[in-house]
Amino acid sequence: MLRDVVAALDDLYPPGSAAPWDRVGLVAGDLARPVRRILFAVDPTLAVIDEAVAWEADLLVTHHPLLLHGIHSVATTNAKGAAVTRLVENGVALFVAHTNADVAQPGVSSVLADALGLTEQRALSTLEGRDGRPYAAGRVGVLAVPSSLAAFATTLAAVLPGTAGGIRVSGEPEATVRVVAVMGGAGDDRFEQARACGADVYVTADLRHHPVLEAREESGGGPPYLVDAGHWATESLWLESVRARLHAALGESTAPPARVASRISVVRTEPWTFVVGANTATPSPEVPPES
Ligand SMILES: [Zn+2]
Repeated sequence: MLRDVVAALDDLYPPGSAAPWDRVGLVAGDLARPVRRILFAVDPTLAVIDEAVAWEADLLVTHHPLLLHGIHSVATTNAKGAAVTRLVENGVALFVAHTNADVAQPGVSSVLADALGLTEQRALSTLEGRDGRPYAAGRVGVLAVPSSLAAFATTLAAVLPGTAGGIRVSGEPEATVRVVAVMGGAGDDRFEQARACGADVYVTADLRHHPVLEAREESGGGPPYLVDAGHWATESLWLESVRARLHAALGESTAPPARVASRISVVRTEPWTFVVGANTATPSPEVPPES
């Protein structure tokens, strides 16, 4: 029953650890309804909901909230209303684990840190949850083998799903990186902590001109170098984690035949679809700069 699945998810990602402004938990659905199929996605877009409906999913679990700000209509004349209507009409429940999934252990950032093989992991900073307690936000760890910034970015690209925008790096390609800070999703409010923790490189997403330029100025052109690896890409690795943890909590294997079937959405909710005019020459650490 949905009641049991919601209880398991609340246990894995306690709502009290979510940021006070956040909206997490069950958005649509009847707790007394059975759950046989669960779809996982980063964003509850209409295309993802259509996929859930077509697959006859009973529950859609997403990272980002569908309804974060006040709405006054669920009519199909607006996209949010159309999404709610489609969920309700087709009997698809929606559950959101957002900032409570960011701070979880394993959570969005720790899964990214694990994928990069970071050891000696610790928190990048702390966030106060709505329960007033501090929670770890972002991760810092050490690469098994120090590498050039260019080689590190290439490794990161191999770990993450590919996107049209690729990975943007601010720093010298041949600079050596060993200590890595990561924050899945938008992390341009953690530059100070990335500098304070001694990171050589900070991997996050949604980086804008002024904050990046100012952070680079503050660090005098040295570390931490900055990497914008894409919001959807840096958070999508978490989906396999929540899927496996939920099945374990429900006492089932992710491999069929399981009583509850699940899968990760095939819809890529990365909004950027193509890039033109980029300098596509990837700097190689092997080639010394011209003198
Ligand atoms: Zn996000």
